[in-house]
Amino acid sequence: MTEEQRRSKKRKRGNRRKEYAAKNNASSFTATPSGVANPTKSSSKSKSSFLDKMKARLSGGYFRMINEKLYTCSGDEALEYFKEDPSLFNVYHSGYQAQMSLWPEQPNDVIIKWIKDRSPSLVVADFGCGDARLAKSVKNKVHSFDLVSNDPSIIACDMSNTPLASSSVDIAVFCLSLMGTNFPSYIQEANRVLKPQGWLLIAEVKSRLDPTTGGADPNDFVKAICELGFTSKSKDLSNKMFILFHFQKKEKQKPRDINWPELKPCLYKRR
Ligand code: SAH
Repeated sequence: MTEEQRRSKKRKRGNRRKEYAAKNNASSFTATPSGVANPTKSSSKSKSSFLDKMKARLSGGYFRMINEKLYTCSGDEALEYFKEDPSLFNVYHSGYQAQMSLWPEQPNDVIIKWIKDRSPSLVVADFGCGDARLAKSVKNKVHSFDLVSNDPSIIACDMSNTPLASSSVDIAVFCLSLMGTNFPSYIQEANRVLKPQGWLLIAEVKSRLDPTTGGADPNDFVKAICELGFTSKSKDLSNKMFILFHFQKKEKQKPRDINWPELKPCLYKRR
């Protein structure tokens, strides 16, 4: 690609983002209460809060755009998407943190506690690690993977294809990270790198696995993973926002046809 082609692509992307932000935010922006929509006679304090609100709306719009993209494309497409513009990853994660701060309990905390209650000699792989909080919170050796690396400890890759050796890991974690349309290939990769008897922990947004609102049946999800060669150890539905599954890899696995359910994309409503 020539420099000019690259620049033109960047310009187009910038325009697309502006159009998207305008479409998703400008209309709701004008519809907000008068104190916000009428900045003309405001003091500098209200002017800065006006600007803060505007910025928050724009970043909220980008967040929803990126989030929707990640739930509706494959892992290799997502990798390309962030390679073209790595700054989108930070936008995504600011929005993600804002959403998570509204949850009464963080699935990552529950998983971290479970790992801390076990031997620190167990090797962990964190698939879709985000800011690698898990790795920073435990004594264990943790291999952290995500689409973008913001920290030298994080390996940037599509997690359906990690650099780990087969049967080298004791605990594989997916904390809200089964986003791509090809999510079974992430679980297959975890299966490859896990030792026999190794643990597979999956936390997912409840609505993705709620058949009453168009989500998958959690029993079908469990069945598919058992068909891959795991034993289901627990399915914890006690949290308001997420389900946490514990599986253990069987000593001997028999290749089978697996009927994977579709996981509903987790899309956030406009506030
Ligand atoms: N597990 C972290 C982050 C959850 S957000 C936590 O609980 O805080 C989901 C993360 O999965 C995002 O950072 C996203 O970039 C990552 N992800 C989604 N698809 C991926 C893929 N194919 N390969 C690597 N990481 C992926």
